[in-house]
Amino acid sequence: MEMNLGLSERVETLRDRVAEIICKDIMPMEDEYHAEVAQGDRWTFTDRQMEIMNALKNKVRAEGLWNFWLTGSDKGFGLTTVEYAYMAEELGKSPLAAEVFNCSAPDTGNMEVFERYGTEEMKARWLAPLLAGRIRSAYVMTEPDVASSDATNLSLTCVRDGDEYILNGEKWWASGAGDPRCAVYIVMVKTGGDDAPKHKRHSMIVVDAATPGIEKLRPMEIYGHDDAPHGHFHIRFTNVRVPAENLLLGEERGFEIAQGRLGPGRIHHCMRAIGQAEAALELMCKRSLSRTAFGKKSGASWC
Ligand SMILES: Cc1cc2nc3c(=O)[nH]c(=O)nc-3n(C[C@H](O)[C@H](O)[C@H](O)COP(=O)(O)OP(=O)(O)OC[C@H]3O[C@@H](n4cnc5c(N)ncnc54)[C@H](O)[C@@H]3O)c2cc1C
Repeated sequence: MEMNLGLSERVETLRDRVAEIICKDIMPMEDEYHAEVAQGDRWTFTDRQMEIMNALKNKVRAEGLWNFWLTGSDKGFGLTTVEYAYMAEELGKSPLAAEVFNCSAPDTGNMEVFERYGTEEMKARWLAPLLAGRIRSAYVMTEPDVASSDATNLSLTCVRDGDEYILNGEKWWASGAGDPRCAVYIVMVKTGGDDAPKHKRHSMIVVDAATPGIEKLRPMEIYGHDDAPHGHFHIRFTNVRVPAENLLLGEERGFEIAQGRLGPGRIHHCMRAIGQAEAALELMCKRSLSRTAFGKKSGASWC
């Protein structure tokens, strides 16, 4: 079947409206929003930050511009993955935009997991507030002690004990775990033995972020930035007891879920990264045209 990757008229109109809101309403608030991070505790939001974010969210929601990412579901906006890719490109141009439209990682992938693999109870408790943008979530997979680019190495243990599982181990780079609204983690754990095939040893389990035994050890930094208050956290799990019904889909089905989560998630990330690169190029061009050296604009010859 031939795949149409072009823009339909409907999607072009939508994309243009999203781009307009980002340019006129969201980008002008970026500096003020980020300056607030330095006011007091870096891991809380100031009243002004919440005011800015909630006003922007209310504005786009009033126009129905919400949850574009959720494809193939009557709870979503009704776009295909290809159509959403054009929105994601625009969202990448501002660090605030994805959250404003309730399209930010890691929530989108996590909501996708709840939507496709969660029980009705999980949907009511976690998916509904995530879809409404009331809470945030983290996807907790990477570990300090193993090369996690090969996820078959993951070693955080998850052992059944009656009606519960007990989790022990460490994770890091858990994006969004610093956010005070982050209420739930989806954790990749090892439930199976080493004698099983290597893609049939891991499971995913839903963990309430407030469960006793969870310690947020430190925010990770990238070139000196901690990305507060979102953050990418190093977390320790010590005898964390989780109800057995929180295990998604069944024991040793973690990789099956990971594939379902990452399929669309990779496209979302790539398209946002393309948008971010386009915005960076535009800023560079503007700056080069604002500088004069040796009697001419420094960007005049190539921009
Ligand atoms: C900003 C940021 C946000 C993140 N958010 C999350 C998150 O929300 N949740 C989460 O779970 N993780 C998250 N991560 C972690 C990320 O997914 C991992 O860093 C990534 O999967 C790589 O794993 P690793 O760090 O263990 O690297 P390693 O597996 O140790 O790999 C190190 C390097 O070696 C290369 N390499 C490894 N094995 C081989 C091989 N056999 N041959 C050749 N090259 C090899 C890798 O490509 C990589 O370049 C985040 C990371 C960053 C930087």
